[in-house]
Amino acid sequence: MSKIPSQLHNNQQSPEHPIPKFIETECNIKTPPTCVDGRNCGIDGYLKAGQMLGGSLNIIILKAINEGKQIDKEFISKTVAQMKKLEIKVGGHTDDHDHSEGVACGCGFADNIITILQRAQQQKDEIINRIKNVYSNNPTAYDNFFGEDINVSELLSNSLNKIISYNISENVNSTGKQIVEKVNPQYKLKGNHGEQIAFINLKQGKTLNVVTLNNRKKQAFNLDLWMVKNQATKMRLNANIYVMQSLILYVATEIVLVEDKGQMALPLVTNS
Ligand SMILES: [Zn+2]
Ligand SMILES: [Zn+2]
Repeated sequence: MSKIPSQLHNNQQSPEHPIPKFIETECNIKTPPTCVDGRNCGIDGYLKAGQMLGGSLNIIILKAINEGKQIDKEFISKTVAQMKKLEIKVGGHTDDHDHSEGVACGCGFADNIITILQRAQQQKDEIINRIKNVYSNNPTAYDNFFGEDINVSELLSNSLNKIISYNISENVNSTGKQIVEKVNPQYKLKGNHGEQIAFINLKQGKTLNVVTLNNRKKQAFNLDLWMVKNQATKMRLNANIYVMQSLILYVATEIVLVEDKGQMALPLVTNS
């Protein structure tokens, strides 16, 4: 489990700590993707890396879930090889804490994958409500994103049911370290979490400028949903299911990394 020192718990909105706005930058799909994590790693190319849950783990873990496979090093390696064949860049991250003694790698998505999947299974109604709320704030943007003929609430329940029917105890026995190792984590994120908001970015080819945000002593989670869609399509997966499941696991991840630690739920805001 990652440690979060209390002095960085600044996610309550106040005049001294206004919630940051989305700062857009070009995303380079030739750069390995990184995590939704709001921290920075201080290397040049990082600025243009797309953000998904645990970087490439987002697609890989959803593929295991949808195909009823174990999340283990064989499955991850095999999927990474498929992605590389399709010229999809693969990436992930650790952090600069000393995790050498334990089983954690520093990526909250990888380290807490069991708890995150459990939350998604157990808090079905809460998660559905939050995603319906996100949708109803931007119905046109999401209708365009999913396709006009898609019934979003049907897609949401089908996507969640697929996660609920996954047998976690039978299929997930790997540690964060073992999981992340196989995506060759290129980025070592610095310091501690202090995210105040969780962005969902629908804008093709764009990502959140985490470097500028961190320079301003701000942090935000960001999920580049367009990248999930592009990669799932390229891999001939059911892109809309993968996109919706990414949103579901994004909400579950926020619950585990933020609310389970005693902090208030972060606002979920769409950039479109
Ligand atoms: Zn750490
Ligand atoms: Zn991460």
